[in-house]
Amino acid sequence: MRTEFLPFSRPSITEEEIAQVSEVLRSGWITTGAKNAAFEKAFSEYTGAAGSVALASATAGMHLIFNALDLKAGDEVITPAMTWVSTVNLIVKSGATPIFVDIQRDTLMTNADLIQTKITNKTKAIVPVHFAGASLDLNPLRKLAIENEIPLIEDAAHAVGTSYHDEKIGKNGTAIFSFHPIKNLTTGEGGMFCSDDLDLVEKIRRLKFHGLGVDAFDRQMQGRSPQAEVLEAGFKYNLTDIAATLGISQLQRLDQMNQQREKLAQLYLKKLEEIPEILPLSIPTYPMKHSWHLFIVRLDIEKMQMSRDEFMADLKRENIGTGLHFKAVHLHKFYREQLGFQRGLLPNTEWNSDRICSLPLFPDMTEQDVDDVILAIKRVLKNDSVYFFSNPCF
Ligand SMILES: *Cc1c(COP(=O)(O)O)cnc(C)c1O
Repeated sequence: MRTEFLPFSRPSITEEEIAQVSEVLRSGWITTGAKNAAFEKAFSEYTGAAGSVALASATAGMHLIFNALDLKAGDEVITPAMTWVSTVNLIVKSGATPIFVDIQRDTLMTNADLIQTKITNKTKAIVPVHFAGASLDLNPLRKLAIENEIPLIEDAAHAVGTSYHDEKIGKNGTAIFSFHPIKNLTTGEGGMFCSDDLDLVEKIRRLKFHGLGVDAFDRQMQGRSPQAEVLEAGFKYNLTDIAATLGISQLQRLDQMNQQREKLAQLYLKKLEEIPEILPLSIPTYPMKHSWHLFIVRLDIEKMQMSRDEFMADLKRENIGTGLHFKAVHLHKFYREQLGFQRGLLPNTEWNSDRICSLPLFPDMTEQDVDDVILAIKRVLKNDSVYFFSNPCF
């Protein structure tokens, strides 16, 4: 057994990055300024996006776009329940109604056919999720969105560095990225809004900082010009330069870090072939480049006679950390008890919600770490079956 705990994720931070952050701290300018502008520019260059706006989080980006779309009571937003709760919480907080769409069982992603059945004349937005580093099949989604004149907002929290056909996620359409510590690129906390609609980019830029028309001024040279006027009521979701400087460096290392993730993921896939109780996700067959944000497996719990939660607890005793991405949103207490959602609504989402588990995957992990995880899984499964067959209570 490992003597040192292996977390399921750990940010990769270099000494150089620590020095760069220190430099910003000593510079006299620590909030939004030149580093933000440079980070946005570099992000647009990397993805090919027409415009990028750095934000305090992806959740902030989602709040701003819902606000820009004037989401309100009576409106509907179509989104999967296999997602992080932030999107759905914001739909509810705006007074609108979340319309949950099911996912494909083996990719955890929704698609145009599933979404089409949920569109009504109240649909105000469609928010699908690129999952675990794989890309959604965007062409049919874009066609559906255009035909119905409904904005398509890609939750790209898992998809920094992911490509669809030969385009980076973020290049076309509107996408929101997260830089939370477990994500492929981190700024501590942070996010990025990207769009090919420059009017929308400017609106988000304004809304993120009190609705001030600050961009008429040179933000870097003048800071918050006292002459700037509020053009509409906004929020305060800007990113600090302390965080942005980390983002600039992380972006330079992103492809290399994602390559390391890919290498480890391939190793997992190979080694897991020997363990029939553990079912990895399938990789979509349309052209895409995976960024391997998460390595998610599903447990054949019927064969194992053990729940997913027990499996996670047993692995923890073996000093292996795991994650759960995600418990279906509609099965959370608030959504069951206050909004009346029930099991049975989303079969593929619920099937996965009971069986998924994220194994450790981060760029600084070693091949030995992967071996340790595989060994620990084998031990957990073996111990369980011994217990199962020797215990007369069963
Ligand atoms: C992490 C995550 C978010 C939220 O990102 P924050 O930056 O923490 O707000 C949204 N959606 C998905 C799918 C995520 O994984």
